[in-house]
Amino acid sequence: MITGSCHCGLVSFEFSNPVQKLADCKCRDCQKSTGSLISQIASISPQQMTFTGKQPERFTPSTGEQCDLHGGWLFCGNCGSRLAWFSNAGNLYDVLRGTIDNPDDIRVGP
Ligand SMILES: [Zn+2]
Ligand SMILES: [Zn+2]
Repeated sequence: MITGSCHCGLVSFEFSNPVQKLADCKCRDCQKSTGSLISQIASISPQQMTFTGKQPERFTPSTGEQCDLHGGWLFCGNCGSRLAWFSNAGNLYDVLRGTIDNPDDIRVGP
């Protein structure tokens, strides 16, 4: 099981392998949201994800050019860590890999 959490640890999660893909997003929306030039993400189905601590807050941008057009963000209401991007269609979480406890345990598969 892949586990992870926000910076303060109140929001924690787990999901099972495999993930759909590993990717980097460098769009302006992700840069502004995460504060990082590159967002390294692991894509999973929302049905794979279990939040094991406090539930994350949701931010749905009202404008955007790239990722913000199609979804929003899950973040910790206490420490503010971004945890994942979610698709408005409800079929995708792009988990920010820095929140995962052991990022090398992620396996990509069908
Ligand atoms: Zn937190
Ligand atoms: Zn993006």
